Amino acid sequence: MRITANFDAGNIEVISLENKQDIQLSIRPDAGGEFFQWFNFRLSGEIGDHYVLNIMNAGEASYVKGWENYQAVASYDREDWFRLPTTYKDGKLSITVDMAYDNIQIAYFAPYSYERHQDLLATVQMHPLATLEHLGETLDKRDLTLVKIGNGDSSSDVNKRSIWIIARQHPGETMAEWLIEGLLYSLLDEDNATAKQLLEKANVYIVPNMNPDGSVRGHLRTNAAGVNLNREWSNPSLERSPEVFHIINKMEATGVDLFYDVHGDEALPYVFLAGSQGAPSYSERLAHLRDRFTEVLKLASADFQSEYGYEIDAPGTANMTVATNWVAEHFDCLANTLEMPFKDNDNVPDADTGWSLERSMKLGEASLLAMLAVVDDLR
Ligand code: ZN
Repeated sequence: MRITANFDAGNIEVISLENKQDIQLSIRPDAGGEFFQWFNFRLSGEIGDHYVLNIMNAGEASYVKGWENYQAVASYDREDWFRLPTTYKDGKLSITVDMAYDNIQIAYFAPYSYERHQDLLATVQMHPLATLEHLGETLDKRDLTLVKIGNGDSSSDVNKRSIWIIARQHPGETMAEWLIEGLLYSLLDEDNATAKQLLEKANVYIVPNMNPDGSVRGHLRTNAAGVNLNREWSNPSLERSPEVFHIINKMEATGVDLFYDVHGDEALPYVFLAGSQGAPSYSERLAHLRDRFTEVLKLASADFQSEYGYEIDAPGTANMTVATNWVAEHFDCLANTLEMPFKDNDNVPDADTGWSLERSMKLGEASLLAMLAVVDDLR
């Protein structure tokens, strides 16, 4: 029996393989050592064997509440991901596996590989409405790529709105890029009337992966320098956060009328939005847009709800280093962070899969209807 995480987005360290009923592992922290929770590894064993894998440092992970009622994700064919019996007790996350084949991959959530990221870009570029733009390099010298969908340029056609959608500022939140994949393919589907109407009214700027370095390194929350990109928006730098620096530059050129920042939440078992209510110039106009967006997204997807979520910031108390708050304030636009669960949506639970890559993709498609519902009123 052996365990390896020596691949794209892999993360695990082996402490002991001596006892099949007490395999001891630990999660390697992000660069800088502040954050960890993402794990992703392959177990090779004997068909029919029963293994208990114990993640010994789970109690020191970034979001310990994330382990409560959490079930680890696994796959034999790396396409179909299901949940494994998992318990959290005394600081230890215990995952049980009954081997059906020689190899099983086990992860915090269905991985979205760097290869798949490049496949996505390669595929969408062939659509006549899509353009790829290189925005700059990351600290590990990876490309930061923008996908622009639209037949006009917002800066030349003043009637076109600019919609910006970004994902994976936090690289371990892979459901965010699954959502983007679903959204992108729906947006480019000629038979999707919602997409067609939306593209008549707006250009859509999409960054499918804001943090490719953290993604490949198997980080939870930070880039190659150990920096949390979603705390860099008020003062990004080429040394610490080139990802944010380059994207803000491009946003200044296109303007932003609607911003959608896609994330995953470790603890809450619901899909929800976090808005910019605490930003200094939050207005009645933005509140009205937010209400409309929320109501239509609820109708478009029964996976979305507005009862559970983060506590809403009191007026003027928002953290302005956070993307949603900074963009809302700087561009005076509707801005929302979308959060999906690592666990499941407790309103529509699925014991086999929990929250899944497929549900993330469908939520991406559903998001287009909420965007169409507000597009005429964005300015
Ligand atoms: Zn996040």
